[in-house]
Amino acid sequence: MKSAGYDIVVLLNEKFLNQVTGALFYNGFLRINGSVKLYEELDQENLDKIPEDLYRFLLINYRIKLNYEPSIDFLPAVSPDDPARVRIHTALRVYFWLWDGLEIKFDANISLAAGLEIDSKTNQLWIDFAHSDIEALAVKYRYSMEQTVTLKLDQIMENAVRAYLSDQNNCFSFNLPSVNPLLPYMDDIPDNYLPLSIRAIKNLDATTMAIAVNIDDYEGGDEQQLSNFARNCSAAVAVPEIAMYKVYDFFWERTNWDKCFKFKKSFESETLNDVVNVIGKVVDITQRIVTEIATLGFVETHFEMKGMRFEVGADVKLLSKPEFDLMPDNKVKIKKLNTNIIFSLKVFLDVEYSVEIDPTGWFPDIIPDYEVVNDRVEVKIFEMHVPFFNMQLKKGVGKVVLDDATNTLQIQIEQLDLYWDFIAFTDCPFLNFPEWLFNKILDLCESSIADAIPPIVITPSFTVDVPLVDWDLNIEGKKLTIDPDEVTLAADMYFAELKKDIPNVPKYIVNINNREIHKIGCDSLMDTYEEHQRGYHLLNDAVNRGYDGCKRCLPAYHTK
Ligand SMILES: [Zn+2]
Repeated sequence: MKSAGYDIVVLLNEKFLNQVTGALFYNGFLRINGSVKLYEELDQENLDKIPEDLYRFLLINYRIKLNYEPSIDFLPAVSPDDPARVRIHTALRVYFWLWDGLEIKFDANISLAAGLEIDSKTNQLWIDFAHSDIEALAVKYRYSMEQTVTLKLDQIMENAVRAYLSDQNNCFSFNLPSVNPLLPYMDDIPDNYLPLSIRAIKNLDATTMAIAVNIDDYEGGDEQQLSNFARNCSAAVAVPEIAMYKVYDFFWERTNWDKCFKFKKSFESETLNDVVNVIGKVVDITQRIVTEIATLGFVETHFEMKGMRFEVGADVKLLSKPEFDLMPDNKVKIKKLNTNIIFSLKVFLDVEYSVEIDPTGWFPDIIPDYEVVNDRVEVKIFEMHVPFFNMQLKKGVGKVVLDDATNTLQIQIEQLDLYWDFIAFTDCPFLNFPEWLFNKILDLCESSIADAIPPIVITPSFTVDVPLVDWDLNIEGKKLTIDPDEVTLAADMYFAELKKDIPNVPKYIVNINNREIHKIGCDSLMDTYEEHQRGYHLLNDAVNRGYDGCKRCLPAYHTK
């Protein structure tokens, strides 16, 4: 089993993590601005030798930004007891401003290894950058740096990066997709939190990590059995049937869903003479119609039946929790659904009529001065309400679906057959309706009950929360696999802003901050923040908007 004996196994692929790091990159992540006051590091004797107005030459300002989005790898555990770790690799561009104006810039590669930590209260998983190790920090100097090396620029840079990482306020940690203990249709109170605990975190290979979760104090699960079942997806989850029962029991006891509900549905049909005949045995239909199109008795009426409308309704009370059993091919057998139902049926006749008024007779002023009135009216000819107590389920079929709004797996009841015991009502005209109509009415009632039954929630919701990023995460390509004892769900998650395909790469990029146009590939573009960049296909479009050519790559358009 993919769930390896645990209640819930979540697999995370680096494909998803790379989306997250990409989103962080384009949202201004790991930008550091700072300064070092070299004169503060001098001892008093040396400091006294330097006139105070030269201090500004001993001030180093720096700025660090990412050149590219970081990449993430899962580090396989060296020994089974090691905590799971990830490696982040990225390239930095570093700027220093020395001696009151001289700008030096260089690139650096940085590689960090960080542990995956669990918050035991919220069961959220995050990457702990505050305690990460800088595995490598290689500076690529562009020119002879002899003078500056003596100023230990690379040491300043490393200190700045370390300070940034260890500052929790920088939120260099982000929460990984996790399991939300609050199920849908529940009041948000601590008692309603499904008791979950993360039992294992294992890096299955360099691309995939498994998080194993149990409900309550269940101890089961075998870490060695965890396998990669999410090869082409960003994330996947496996839940065995036995865990679904646990979630569902918990849900059913606490949900704020009303287990009593009612509905009313109706459908129309062409005139059905046999129905009129059946009802006609207990009701004087003509009398009903004449009463409805009431005249004062001094007129002549003609009417014609045009159609019928059937209004089916029920007041339903669920007496027991529906039970379920997973079957192959995403069929779920629904068992044990006991209900009290007050079934109601109303039949309306659609009547077209004309009233001929005798113009020689006396009639009040309110009757208009014409001789024939044509109209149409709906006349109720039949109404019944029948209570059924402790009604039993004959057959129930459903399927497992992913509810997009809550990211939970739920069982949707698709078909219910109930034991309708009309035996006590032998005189009821409804029993003598044509068979197809009788069945249609009960089928409509059963399908409406199936629709109205609260969702059977069988998993907690899967949440993804990326702080610092304002973008909406899309979940797509969902693939649900139902086995008799386990359900697996795999999905792709991505930010629309990081779509894979961008047609027609523009030739020019404008930096809207300093209003400069660059050819794509110009190194100066690396100095601009990504959110300040806008693409242009036509140079003239950018020039006409008042942007100025870059001194290096578009000197002919450089005017400032
Ligand atoms: Zn340029």
